[in-house]
Amino acid sequence: MVQIENSAFAVNEKGYYGNFGGAYIPEMLYPNVQELKENYLKIIYDPGFQEEFHQLLKDFVGRPTPLYFAKRLSEKYKTNVYLKREDLCHTGAHKLNNTVGQILLAKKLGKHKIVAETGAGQHGVATATVCALMGLECIVYMGEIDIQRQAPNVARMKMLGAEVRPAKSGSKTLKDATNEAMRHWINNPVDTHYIIGSVVGPHPYPDMVARFQSVISEEIRAQLLEKTGKETPDYVIACVGGGSNAAGAYFHFLDEPSVKIIAAEAAGHGVLSGKSAATTFLGKKGILHGSKSLLMQTEDGQVVEPHSISAGLDYPGIGPLHAHLWESGRAQFYAITDEESLKAGFELSKLEGIIPAIESSHALAVLNHLNAKSDETVVIALSGRGDKDLDTYMKFL
Ligand SMILES: *Cc1c(COP(=O)(O)O)cnc(C)c1O
Repeated sequence: MVQIENSAFAVNEKGYYGNFGGAYIPEMLYPNVQELKENYLKIIYDPGFQEEFHQLLKDFVGRPTPLYFAKRLSEKYKTNVYLKREDLCHTGAHKLNNTVGQILLAKKLGKHKIVAETGAGQHGVATATVCALMGLECIVYMGEIDIQRQAPNVARMKMLGAEVRPAKSGSKTLKDATNEAMRHWINNPVDTHYIIGSVVGPHPYPDMVARFQSVISEEIRAQLLEKTGKETPDYVIACVGGGSNAAGAYFHFLDEPSVKIIAAEAAGHGVLSGKSAATTFLGKKGILHGSKSLLMQTEDGQVVEPHSISAGLDYPGIGPLHAHLWESGRAQFYAITDEESLKAGFELSKLEGIIPAIESSHALAVLNHLNAKSDETVVIALSGRGDKDLDTYMKFL
């Protein structure tokens, strides 16, 4: 992990990216967050930690993931498309990069219990996986409705030895599970670490998760150099739910003005349809999960229920780094509809023999909007594999 402290897009000491970020937390949570803030950089850049982290990324997660030149897709779009194959990570997506990092950090902090929340269950599975790996106790809060909707992931978590606790308040979905997980952490500050699954939450979580995921762009640079003779592409494209796979894919390119940073958000049925999750198009400044960012809200500040065909992008906010990339104009955002993403998913399957996660299909669909030239290089973060989405794809067939 390369340390870059002088980046124009690094978090500042107070935990802000431009106007976004910070730690807006109840007083009861302050000691936990403070402990993390004071220790995370020291711990993760310790050579012993780095060695253990990279060993696990290699042997347990399966890194480096390939950077694959998609020949037939490139022919179709008359440009040079490379796919960063996070779909080949253990458990099927990039999420394990972060949970492996955080479980090692938890151990260094002397914590032996882990709490997490999950919506669709992907982050819950990634957390349960590393808890099994390290023999730590794992409690995952999940909305009661999500438990019914996501039975296979609930089964996976249980098989891995985690306890899945239903959140029965409010809408019984992700937001309520988050509240319960935070409450649990407040009540168990000494022995428990809270693993957040994306670049969201109070500082230092967004920065910490981005650093763990930055291995993605570190590898892309080396692989591009080997394949094309040049370390930087013309475009890097990733889907943004909370924004962790995107943060990882962008990280080592943010200070390279020649690299265009592209984000795909979920437009759902359409940005103006009332059933959307396109936060930069619909959101306003506000506070969600402990940080100031953009979020979809009503006039009086109540969070609006988002909609996306993809569970991983069905989130009413984005991480503060991405809000800053949007406000500063460093990144360009596209809103991709459910239907566009489905088409892109079928296209990749048939042209390249790779069935992408429906989240990743949103990033692929951007190719239709880009007009990249024949001598340009486009890197797309293929955040996950599509096995979990077969029912969704089949309904469209
Ligand atoms: C969870 C998930 C996402 C969305 O999360 P980010 O933090 O925005 O990366 C995207 N793709 C896949 C495959 C996921 O599992």
